[in-house]
Amino acid sequence: MVDKEQILQWLQGFATKIEQNKEYLTELDAAIGDADHGINMDRGFKKAIAQLPNVADQDIGSILKTVSMTLISSIGGASGPLYGTFFLRASTVVAGKHKLAAQDLLEMLQAGLDGVLQRGKAQMGDKTMVDVLSPAVVAFGQCVGTGAVMLVAMQQAVAAAQEGLQNTIPMLAKKGRASYLGERSVGHQDPGATSSYLMLKSLLETLE
Ligand code: ADP
Ligand code: MG
Ligand code: MG
Repeated sequence: MVDKEQILQWLQGFATKIEQNKEYLTELDAAIGDADHGINMDRGFKKAIAQLPNVADQDIGSILKTVSMTLISSIGGASGPLYGTFFLRASTVVAGKHKLAAQDLLEMLQAGLDGVLQRGKAQMGDKTMVDVLSPAVVAFGQCVGTGAVMLVAMQQAVAAAQEGLQNTIPMLAKKGRASYLGERSVGHQDPGATSSYLMLKSLLETLE
């Protein structure tokens, strides 16, 4: 089981990782975008974290929904609506819950990913955050399906995410600003895929 305190720790931990990697994410975006991904994410998550004390006594769904609304209203650019949608769709699955079993966490991550897919219309191989989120959710689901405990399933998910992240380097971008570069987007790691990897890594650290 993962409880509400751990979900709060996850969000706080992710915000800290974003802050620590703000320059790195922005450098990655400088190569194939407009050099603002670290700035966008840091601004949005700092605001989201500031809201957490107001909702800490509510259920996990309400907490994730608050994060979503803050991200949508405070991050400009592609990542605001995409991460906002991830957390909004995730929140609906866990509405009213204060603890999540592995199956709940799977459904939450799957719903978040489905939201990103619907909103951004990216597919695997388009060099976006989908290239990290999708293999991670698949690996988590397969592991949970075999009856593995949540921590082990999350370790597998993060391993798949890491591989997915590396795989974005040789890809030609087909969505977002990087797609304007065509062939010149090849050879660079995708910034949004990198922040999504950090999000999953933070979730794993919360379970450890
Ligand atoms: P912007 O490109 O508007 O400046 P950011 O720099 O904050 O926004 O975010 C860029 C990241 O957003 C990309 O690295 C990519 O992972 C992600 N992204 C862009 N478009 C899409 C999309 N249609 N679907 C999924 N992810 C996308
Ligand atoms: Mg950008
Ligand atoms: Mg931008």
